[in-house]
Amino acid sequence: MQDDEMKISIIGTGYVGLTTGVGFAVKGNDVLCVDIDAAKVETINSGVSPIYEPLLDDYLKKVLKQKKFRATIDLSDAVNRSEASFISVGTPSGKDGKIDLRFIEEVSKQIGQVLKDKKDYHVVVVKSTVVPETTEKVVVENVESASCKKAGEDFGVCMNPEFLREGKAMEDFLTPDRIVIGSIDKRSGDVIEKLYSNFKASILRTDVKTAEMIKYASNAFLATKISFTNEIGNICKRLCIDVNEVMKGVGMDSRISPHFLNAGCGYGGSCFPKDVEALIWKAKETGYEPRLLDEVHELNNRQKVVLVDQLEKRIGKLKGKNICLLGLAFKPDSDDIREASSISIISKLIEKGAKVKAYDPKAMENMEKLFPNIQYVSNAKEALAGSDACLIVTEWDEFRKLEDKDFDAMRNRIIIEGRRILDKAKVSKFDGICW
Ligand code: NAD
Repeated sequence: MQDDEMKISIIGTGYVGLTTGVGFAVKGNDVLCVDIDAAKVETINSGVSPIYEPLLDDYLKKVLKQKKFRATIDLSDAVNRSEASFISVGTPSGKDGKIDLRFIEEVSKQIGQVLKDKKDYHVVVVKSTVVPETTEKVVVENVESASCKKAGEDFGVCMNPEFLREGKAMEDFLTPDRIVIGSIDKRSGDVIEKLYSNFKASILRTDVKTAEMIKYASNAFLATKISFTNEIGNICKRLCIDVNEVMKGVGMDSRISPHFLNAGCGYGGSCFPKDVEALIWKAKETGYEPRLLDEVHELNNRQKVVLVDQLEKRIGKLKGKNICLLGLAFKPDSDDIREASSISIISKLIEKGAKVKAYDPKAMENMEKLFPNIQYVSNAKEALAGSDACLIVTEWDEFRKLEDKDFDAMRNRIIIEGRRILDKAKVSKFDGICW
């Protein structure tokens, strides 16, 4: 090992944990990834990623072969063999949007129990997205009471939020826009800064509470950009203005930037919805009413089903109608359906008595667990065949290639686009959600 390479453990091997583990191994570190799911651990050690994420399989195989990376169910061994442990377990939404910290609490206690007998200095790093005060009030307290040691003296603590996007996880992890390291003291932060020393990105050193808030403020701002664009889009639709042209003009302003200005059927995924909700909850806990964020969230919930309202306006009652959905994943290049707009759309279609047929290149297996009784087919053409209407919900590249003749097999040619993916030069007649 070179001087700046480290032994690290990652607790929780989901989208963030696996990408982080493989990423740090690619950068030359020795990595042990821990998960409670033994089947997942076995799959990873066989060189197969349990999630679909471009480049991840290739990098995983490479670091396994180089013996730089291994997955395990043995947390104690992984913590003992490493200098720093990254906590990257899930932080889902609990009741009323409040963050559910039970996995964080559990792992903090387990790490504390190991640190009790560990002689060497160890840094505990929170990589999961957690609301401000969690690292100090939940992680530090649990590690301290289980280890009978003092944070900042006997062990270090950092908060290092992750900004990767699913579908571009490896790329984002290896070449991030910035690295934020919040630490309870200089020593802890220095260890983690050294780990990132061979990344080409600006590093922001701060305290843990600020690092926690930077992650929420970033996600809430991006979600706000999307809901704002959808609001403008809904107004544009009523005025027969193309919102995409409008936002193209808006995004040319360097103060605004062209990113996250696409109108459509709302944001989903494992982060924006739950993080906006958790921030709303935390704000209310402090006695502040976050009205802007409340509306960002509510508008997004309404936006997810606008396609169904538009469909009803076009074809009347949906009972008994064959509706085909193209796209289920919350975004392209991912098999993740968490909080996907497709879930709200399918629920509403079923509620109205429609027969749903769906196709997605990667996410059908996951959706089948949630909706076992709708029909899943193996390509877009099969989905379109015999349908009374088609809703386009995820902007998969392959839908860009669809042409007029592909839609000829529909019983009624009603196409409503939620993502502006169809090529106007190839497909002659379709409606847009906001255009
Ligand atoms: P995930 O649900 O995909 O993975 C969590 C993993 O933790 C699972 O494999 C689970 O089995 C494991 N786990 C749970 N309890 C455990 C324990 N006691 N010991 C070991 N493993 C345990 O979650 P994710 O999407 O990777 O997100 C993790 C965190 O990162 C969340 O806080 C999330 O908000 C944040 N985040 C996610 C993304 C993203 O794009 N998914 C991006 C940035 C930040």
